[in-house]
Amino acid sequence: MKFRVIPVTAFQQNCTLCWCEETMQAAVIDPGGDVAKIEAAIKEEGLQLEKILLTHAHIDHAGGTAEIKALHQVPIEGPHKGDLYWIEGLAKQSAMFGFPKVGDFMPDRWLEDGDVVTVGKQTFQVLHCPGHTPGHVVFFDKSAGMAQVGDVIFQGSIGRTDFPGGNHQQLIDSIRKKLFALGDEVEFIPGHGPASTLGHEKRTNPFVSDHRG
Ligand SMILES: [Zn+2]
Ligand SMILES: [Zn+2]
Repeated sequence: MKFRVIPVTAFQQNCTLCWCEETMQAAVIDPGGDVAKIEAAIKEEGLQLEKILLTHAHIDHAGGTAEIKALHQVPIEGPHKGDLYWIEGLAKQSAMFGFPKVGDFMPDRWLEDGDVVTVGKQTFQVLHCPGHTPGHVVFFDKSAGMAQVGDVIFQGSIGRTDFPGGNHQQLIDSIRKKLFALGDEVEFIPGHGPASTLGHEKRTNPFVSDHRG
C-alpha cells in the first residue's frame, strides 16, 4: 500500500490516506476533522474511497467520520467494540475540546484481534492493542512493513492512560507483547508527531525500551 499523512484538527492528528496502487482504491484512517483537506488529498491522488478505518474513537481521530461516510457512502471498519462508549460520547467530546459539532455514526464492522481488513487488493492485519482506550486497534500492512498505531506509541513516548477506561499496564503489554513482536524493522505512523520504527522505540523509548533502569 501507499501512504499519505494528512495532519488534521487543532491536535495535528495524523489522518492517513492509504491505497492499493493496482486498483487505486483507498481507505482513510482516523479522519478526525478538516474533511475538506482530506477530500482534496483523495482527489489529488486520483483515488476511489472504499472505506473508513478507525484506530480508536477519540474526537481527534473520529470526528470527521460521519461527514466522510455521508459524502462517499462507504463502510466504517473499527475500532474494537470496547470503544463503543467513546463513540456514544463523541458529541460530549467535541463540546469539551471545542471541536465543530460531529455527526453520529456506528461502525459497520467492529474489529477483533487477528481480523483482516482489505484495501483494494492489499490487506491490513488487525491487532487489538488496549490501554489508551479499551477498543484501540492497530492496522499492520505486512508487505509494506508499515503499522498505523494511533495513540498506542509515539516516537519517544506512549499514549495517555488517564482517560476513563485507560490502563497503563495494558498499554505497556500491548506495545511489548504485540507491537514489538512485529519486528524491529517495521515502520509506524503514530496518531501524532513523526514516524519511527519499532526497533528504534525498543532501543530508545524510555517507557517501553529493553534498556530502561
Ligand atoms: Zn486518543
Ligand atoms: Zn490522538
